[in-house]
Amino acid sequence: MNKFKKPELLAPAGNLEKLKTAIIYGADAVFVGGKEFSLRSAASNFSLEDIQEAVAFANDYGARIHVTCNIILHEDNLEGLREYLKQLDDIGVTAVIVADPYIMTIVKEMGLSLEVHVSTQMSVMNTSAINFFKDMGCERVVLARETSFADLKTIRQECPDIELEYFIHGAMCVNYSGRCMLSNYFSRRDANRGGCSQSCRWYYDIYDQKGQVNEVDGLKFSMSSKDMCLIDHIGELIDLGVDSFKIEGRMKSLHYIATVVSTYRKFIDDYCENKEKVLSLNYKKELNKAANRAFCEGFYNGQTTVDSQLYNLRDEHPTQEFIMRVLDYDEATQIATIEQRNYFKVGDEVEIFSPYHDNLNFIVTSIVNADGEAVEVANHPMEVLKVYTGKRVNRNDMGRKVKHEK
Ligand code: SF4
Repeated sequence: MNKFKKPELLAPAGNLEKLKTAIIYGADAVFVGGKEFSLRSAASNFSLEDIQEAVAFANDYGARIHVTCNIILHEDNLEGLREYLKQLDDIGVTAVIVADPYIMTIVKEMGLSLEVHVSTQMSVMNTSAINFFKDMGCERVVLARETSFADLKTIRQECPDIELEYFIHGAMCVNYSGRCMLSNYFSRRDANRGGCSQSCRWYYDIYDQKGQVNEVDGLKFSMSSKDMCLIDHIGELIDLGVDSFKIEGRMKSLHYIATVVSTYRKFIDDYCENKEKVLSLNYKKELNKAANRAFCEGFYNGQTTVDSQLYNLRDEHPTQEFIMRVLDYDEATQIATIEQRNYFKVGDEVEIFSPYHDNLNFIVTSIVNADGEAVEVANHPMEVLKVYTGKRVNRNDMGRKVKHEK
């Protein structure tokens, strides 16, 4: 048996349902955007009441809540800032994720118990910058996605007294994160104030010297990056002593959050229990079920290559579709009460995945609606139905429709 310091598994959440799911599926901490002073889209941000509910829920599971306060502060953003930080502190938020030195300073000045985590928006990638933030009293630095393993190793050795948070999974920018103006330029939506229109993933006409449009297989040029997945390197990151593993994707689906969090949770626990027995391939198969782009390793090995990009490729194909969430299960009848999330029908094969047990499969043989009528198809979103599973399932388990490769 090996003993390691277990890193924190840090998940994203765009609403309370996703936050609770992330915690149930094994996240040690969840980061959310506050409605004020946060960068990302307001639609996915939490009110103070939501944050209060999030902290209460997290406390029941021994988990922590981090709130992004990483706005690029303009003069008119200063009003109400101190009161807001005090409110977060009173609620019991663990940390604020910050990109402006003024916020770092006043959290300490006010004597709050909030930890200050330096946002990835600061693009921190070297020991001197990290020591600078340590001297300012910051407890943690969220390293830029562009930090290679080689640099991370040096940073860990040179900066042992500050927590390091490292991205392990999620979407990538083709530009340095937080330094991109494509969206601002093309759609007047400010990527650095939460409004990125993902202009890099649009299709563009490219002209060669003869003036012809450059297309491959009928698809125009795009700069889209593959998504980062570091499951093959989690072991060495644990060995190195990285404090927190960050999953990206506050706008992603419930299915994505549950799948990605539970897979990394299992990997970390299994590796810390017995690293000899862990094969990342098996975990990667699971991650692929919620992936809608091909994977790459981002900047882990240094600069990205052409293999990290999706030039002229549309590569969005989830291998399995999220169809149900289990609300209840009757042991006597082996019937689950479920909430429908996508179309399925009698005869479909379902894979149930869970924070409590290994995946299990069953064929849908009966679906009964709220009026007690047997139906052949489940085609009303969020409808509560009864489905015979023939196997024990649990509340909060989720079901995917299995698609067999032809
Ligand atoms: S346009 Fe693309 S590269 Fe630029 S911020 Fe948005 S996602 Fe990142």
